[in-house]
Amino acid sequence: VYVNYGMPDDYKELARLGVSVKGKIVIVRYGAGWRGLKPELAYQHGAIGCLIYSDPRDDGYFTGDPYPVGPTRPPEGVQRGSVAKMQLYPGDPTTPGYGSVPGAKHLPLKDVKTILEIPVLPISYADATPLLKAMGGPDAPESWRGALPFTYHVGAGPAKVHMVVKSDWSLKPIYDVIAKLPGSSDADQWVLRGNHHDGWVFGAFDPLAGTIAMLGEAKAMGALYKQGWKPKRTIVYASWDGEEPGLLGSTEWAETHAKELQQKAVAYVNSDTNGRGILFAGGSHSLQHMVNQVAAGVTDPETRASVQQRQRAYLDVKAAEKSASPMLKESAKLAGANGDIPISPLGSGSDYSAFLEHLGIATLDLGFGGEANQGGVYHSRYDSFDHFDRFGDPGFKYGVALAKVAGHIVMRIAGSEVLPMRFGDFSSTLDRYVDQLHKQADSARKAADAQHKLLDAGAYKLAADPLHPVAPPERLSDVPKIDFAPLDTAAKKLKASAQAYEKAYNARAEKGLDIPASQLAQVNQLMGTLEQRLLDEQGLPGRPWYKNMVQAPGELTGYAPKTIPAVHEALDARDWSRADKYAGVTATVLDNYRA
Ligand SMILES: [Zn+2]
Repeated sequence: VYVNYGMPDDYKELARLGVSVKGKIVIVRYGAGWRGLKPELAYQHGAIGCLIYSDPRDDGYFTGDPYPVGPTRPPEGVQRGSVAKMQLYPGDPTTPGYGSVPGAKHLPLKDVKTILEIPVLPISYADATPLLKAMGGPDAPESWRGALPFTYHVGAGPAKVHMVVKSDWSLKPIYDVIAKLPGSSDADQWVLRGNHHDGWVFGAFDPLAGTIAMLGEAKAMGALYKQGWKPKRTIVYASWDGEEPGLLGSTEWAETHAKELQQKAVAYVNSDTNGRGILFAGGSHSLQHMVNQVAAGVTDPETRASVQQRQRAYLDVKAAEKSASPMLKESAKLAGANGDIPISPLGSGSDYSAFLEHLGIATLDLGFGGEANQGGVYHSRYDSFDHFDRFGDPGFKYGVALAKVAGHIVMRIAGSEVLPMRFGDFSSTLDRYVDQLHKQADSARKAADAQHKLLDAGAYKLAADPLHPVAPPERLSDVPKIDFAPLDTAAKKLKASAQAYEKAYNARAEKGLDIPASQLAQVNQLMGTLEQRLLDEQGLPGRPWYKNMVQAPGELTGYAPKTIPAVHEALDARDWSRADKYAGVTATVLDNYRA
């Protein structure tokens, strides 16, 4: 059965067409949601196997000339990638929540919750073509059609697949490389900086483009050190292993040293892939102002404007487009109002996850991109030096730019008198996230009302083509009033408190700070651990490893972030009492943060 992107709405559509995947192998295209959810959802609907392919509509000739002429995915290109259920927890599947070190207890495979129940294989569109061509059944709905030159059918069958998957289940060692430069006065405050070093094949773009930038920073700091420079705080550089199979190296290291990290680590700065284009920054909103200051001081190698000026121009142009998302428009408005370009929330998909979402350490993820069309070689054997040198970052100029941005950020955090966190940015962003929940509930209510009217009037039946019948959709549940009041109040109080802090800080800073040493230590101790107050020990419903109540990877979106996730996902799941409950839980967390 062809299931389009294999997301929840696709299965609803399939049910209306009267096609079931029970006992079948599904073929699904990449896109619209994280790859690991595709086989999982297929399994939940009764499928016994899953093939994932890259359709040229999303990833191939439809988006630009294929390699070797251009950068996009050639017919034989296969996107590998982990399909472990990282929405539950990342890292070694057999050691949830604790370090996978020699002597650790490993769960038997049958008890592991993050391993899929059905076999899955990624294939190229060259290999998917004969299978899709041989499908019968109803024509695929319009939005399901890819860019291959034949009519897409849904099935089931008559195409038959014989699927064999052999897996190596043995344990193997992996190697993180950790380097420490001790701080001169505050050695027990650590600034962490990491990038992974493992790749699916050659890995020029993913991860070496980020790794070379990180090594460039380390080399520069080494040269400064030899000239007598010493950071105030300890700097820790980490080259992670095993990121691709499931954020193994970073997660296991973070879990092994959890206690020490929660005492000492004041920030984690991550990067991964890097290419030509605009600076992307995501993570803790308390670091937003500092990221803007640094971006204003680094020159964009292509235009010679500052990295921040380019970011701003890009944001303004995109936000002015007719198709701009409300989120993008709001970001442009915010950037116009206070000058700082908002950073994005983070989901998952790189090594920041354990630091931000499990331990509550202020985190940034950085990288340039958007101009190189690098996606075409993502996680394939075409991600080579030749490809990167010709399309990714000719001359490695953006590697240098990333080293400057990330290196300056690390040095600022490690060297500042008072840690450079600001809370006004966090509270204004939080307002937006709460507002989005209101809007989500309102639009769910409207959609349910509209659908009920159509169902009650028999409109779906009457409008359908009798020769190609499509059943009416399943009736949506009514949406009651959700009690967002505790969240609204918490957000309001937080805003007032953040504004008062900024006012006091600015007044003091004007006079040159000059804080007594004992007070300074207290302030820094508070700032360095404040992000941990956003954790709830119980974690998110059904996935206790994720403790950050402000940002998390989506349960049904995978890498993409969900903000105020416990409430957001309760609304997605139409579990209204759960939404009520977690509006309260999240409000308590925010009150605790404010206090
Ligand atoms: Zn990577």
